[in-house]
Amino acid sequence: MRIDKANSENIRNAADVIKKGGLVAFPTETVYGLGADGLNPIAVAKIFEAKKRPSFNPLILHIAFKEWIEKFCYVNDDKVYRLINKFWPGPLTLVLPKRSSVPDIVTSGNPTAAIRMPDHPVALKLIEESGTPIAAPSANRFGHLSPTEASHVSKYLGDKVDIILDGGKSAVGVESTILQFHENEFYLLRHGGLSKEEIENEIGKIKSGTVDPDRPNAPGQLPFHYSPQTPLKFFDSKFLDETKKIGALFFKKNTLSFPFSNVKILSQSGDLREAAANLFSYLHELEKQNLDLILVEPVEEKGLGRAIMDRLKKAANQHS
Ligand code: AMP
Ligand code: MG
Repeated sequence: MRIDKANSENIRNAADVIKKGGLVAFPTETVYGLGADGLNPIAVAKIFEAKKRPSFNPLILHIAFKEWIEKFCYVNDDKVYRLINKFWPGPLTLVLPKRSSVPDIVTSGNPTAAIRMPDHPVALKLIEESGTPIAAPSANRFGHLSPTEASHVSKYLGDKVDIILDGGKSAVGVESTILQFHENEFYLLRHGGLSKEEIENEIGKIKSGTVDPDRPNAPGQLPFHYSPQTPLKFFDSKFLDETKKIGALFFKKNTLSFPFSNVKILSQSGDLREAAANLFSYLHELEKQNLDLILVEPVEEKGLGRAIMDRLKKAANQHS
């Protein structure tokens, strides 16, 4: 790990790290972000590994130009453009239907993506030089405070990131405001650096959709965590019924001689990063097959295996 002063040369080097699939901590006006190439699923898996988060959480895609929003999201309302023109670059994150260019691990399997243009010259330059949207949560370990200085990042994540770009103190110091556009309404998912009043002055009344992560499907709230609609269970021989269409999700290899309708292998080499990178897209593919049941093999609950198992257990519980 290096802490580099955020000058042109160091930003260029950091952009090379991003392009090669590495991790760069960088300043934004809200807090420091832990960034990876948002279009590279393995690089994004490294973010979750570094943060030691026991679960997946959808990440914000950071872009350098307003027009990039069209590459990654569907924008189908003029009010979205009004918000962008008024508040970008700035601490406003928009949650919109995602395009297929955005990997499932970035959105934790959600059909929507969160996107913003940060108001910080270092962040903008880094994204521009990388030529890719940068997926980034706050650059702290799970459960610790969000970092607003480079030294905060090195304290908790020093050995996990390739480069920390030091751009001084984050001016806003709190996270971005998150606003979702859903069925012709705006929902405030998280209060942050831009106030509700400022948003309402621009586009009129918005709804409060603050999401409780423990009750993602509570009435009046928007779903926040993705789970497959097809029943999902951990492997048990009692579920192997040949009259049913059953799909299987193995970790390294198919260990059963059962006529599965569809088989997916998360990582043939047993690499948890690769497994995490494939998890949500494989679940989506299995869900599309019109199966009666998806059977999954547990993975070891260490490192990224914990986040993988958290997601699988939640999906299994949903159908128990
Ligand atoms: P941060 O903690 O600043 O990295 O922001 C990530 C937060 O954005 C997540 O914890 C969610 O609250 C929110 N978020 C990101 N993507 C989505 C999405 N597709 N749908 C709903 N909320 C999202
Ligand atoms: Mg955070």
